[in-house]
Amino acid sequence: MRPDVVAVVHTHAPSLIPFGVTKVPLKPMYHRSAFISFGIPVFEIRDRAGMTDMLIRNPTLGHDLTEVLGSHPAALMRGHGAVVTGPSLPRVVGRTIFLALNATLQMQAMSMGGPITYMDDEEARKIEAREGHGLARTWEGWKRKVMTKQ
Ligand SMILES: [Zn+2]
Repeated sequence: MRPDVVAVVHTHAPSLIPFGVTKVPLKPMYHRSAFISFGIPVFEIRDRAGMTDMLIRNPTLGHDLTEVLGSHPAALMRGHGAVVTGPSLPRVVGRTIFLALNATLQMQAMSMGGPITYMDDEEARKIEAREGHGLARTWEGWKRKVMTKQ
């Protein structure tokens, strides 16, 4: 369904859970999370299969999840986590990290009260048009960090 997708991450990042169980949409807070401007839908498993153990246990539910994902970069899974897609391993890992960080930042900004200036769609398009927008150096840093932990 998504020939552009090379890599997928499934995450249970705690900061994403509130956005899957409320009607508050995730919105892009900062430049590293510009892809959020393309929309992050919520997969409600009850709508597809009624009461379940909330896991994608068969190909039908997998298909249902990809239908909700559509052309978006990620989808939240209500009460479970998220699935994140990308055109490369560095991009999908980066999107996963920045999606979770954006959720934390958005909740912090919302708790401060008052209006929030989210990223404009045009700003997001300009950032996303720069392939990887500086991710290569960050990716090398993440790899070094993981390799030195062994
Ligand atoms: Zn899971």
